[in-house]
Amino acid sequence: MTQKADAIVIGAGVIGAAIALELNRVGMRTVSVDKNPASGYGPTSASCAIIRVHYSTLDGTAFAYEGYHYWRDWADYLGVDDERGLAEFREMGCLVMCTDHNDHMRKQTAHCDALSIPYEKWNAEQILERLPIYDLTSYWPPKRMDDPAFGQPGEGRVESAIFFPTAGYITDPQLSTHNIQRAAESAGASFVFGRTVTEILKSGDRVSGVRLDDGTEIHAPVVVNVAGPLSENVNALAGALDDMTITTKALKQEVVHVPAPDGFDFFADGLVVSDSDVAVYCRPEKGNFILIGSEDPECDTREWVDAETYDRDFTEQWTHQAYRYAQRVPSLGIPSQMRGVVDLYDVSDDWIPIYDKSAVPGFYMAIGSSGNQFKNAPIAGKMMAALIQYCEAGNDHDATPLQFDFPYINYRTNVGFYSRKREINKDSSFSVLG
Ligand SMILES: Cc1cc2nc3c(=O)[nH]c(=O)nc-3n(C[C@H](O)[C@H](O)[C@H](O)COP(=O)(O)OP(=O)(O)OC[C@H]3O[C@@H](n4cnc5c(N)ncnc54)[C@H](O)[C@@H]3O)c2cc1C
Repeated sequence: MTQKADAIVIGAGVIGAAIALELNRVGMRTVSVDKNPASGYGPTSASCAIIRVHYSTLDGTAFAYEGYHYWRDWADYLGVDDERGLAEFREMGCLVMCTDHNDHMRKQTAHCDALSIPYEKWNAEQILERLPIYDLTSYWPPKRMDDPAFGQPGEGRVESAIFFPTAGYITDPQLSTHNIQRAAESAGASFVFGRTVTEILKSGDRVSGVRLDDGTEIHAPVVVNVAGPLSENVNALAGALDDMTITTKALKQEVVHVPAPDGFDFFADGLVVSDSDVAVYCRPEKGNFILIGSEDPECDTREWVDAETYDRDFTEQWTHQAYRYAQRVPSLGIPSQMRGVVDLYDVSDDWIPIYDKSAVPGFYMAIGSSGNQFKNAPIAGKMMAALIQYCEAGNDHDATPLQFDFPYINYRTNVGFYSRKREINKDSSFSVLG
């Protein structure tokens, strides 16, 4: 069986779905293929789905602030209904503890100043007023529990934090992807689920389509790799790895869910908190739970895995993360039964994504999302559609990178910032913080 399209999108996670939507909005009919049974069932479904604006580079900050607006105006962005309802954005703000380690957020707040992004500086009393369950004793540097110094106070305490009001999280990341799928379908897209792309077809040097695991061929002059932690495998199928200076690989992540301490309604009164002193971030989770993720401190071993065969069980990492957070919240009860999620980041060498063409004409990639691009999916979709149009019109994006305007915040970005051929960006945090 053979199908035809203007473009094929490999992967129907949140970014893949958003790219399909925007390609159809500019008149390119797409077929999306995903080996999962539905959209957003891969790492997207495990995402903490935190929407925040603080990043370590100006371009990253602008991208995230532009992205925030689509979640705020979700129904307008989609333009269609979904029979399952629309995803909810709980916008309660994000508090980032100021430490010597993050230079008291000087770089991030300077980027916010440049982009007119609102924020407030809170002192210790204001932090404790909002989070009375917190103890602000410093425990820097972050340690594992088997370190004899674990739990021993360091010097001083956390004295201040930056509060960013334009932040929060999406309660159901899978539903948000389904919303985008419905919008894309209404614009002309089609989706094939439960099928794996096993071959990238070529005609001469150029891609001409894909072959699926059941032998079906889909023909199209454009193929986009949005395969998440399997992105490197898909690049290999296309023969697109050779000129890349930035590589991507799969990193195992464990996210902890624990009940909030008795007497404090973290779901209603908590917020997103990033705490580099103990190297965890957290946010409210339904059922008055607290979701705890890792900020990838040096004391933790990074577990690079094979994305197809990795072990989805919790490990002792779950316990290390839970107890690190318990230093900040001494009344936290940690159940013996581990609860939360285990999934993968697709990590690039500098933890900044690759949104780019490739050396293979017609083959594009939106990969290396490094645990921090859920929030950017809508604007990444628009930027990739513009990039594909730019290249397909005969422009050499490697030599003369596309300059792309973010419509909400009126900011022009150099899409070459996300090049597969860039030098490692030394301004990055080299962590999930981006
Ligand atoms: C635990 C965790 C927490 C996170 N928290 C946040 C957060 O708080 N904020 C934030 O902004 N970001 C966060 N992220 C990152 C964010 O979720 C991802 O960047 C985003 O979901 C990636 O979407 P994607 O479209 O690239 O696809 P993914 O969700 O990675 O999915 C890729 C899809 O490609 C499909 N696929 C792969 N190969 C093939 C093939 N050969 N044939 C067919 N299909 C294929 C897979 O089945 C999969 O569905 C987190 C990620 C994880 C794992």
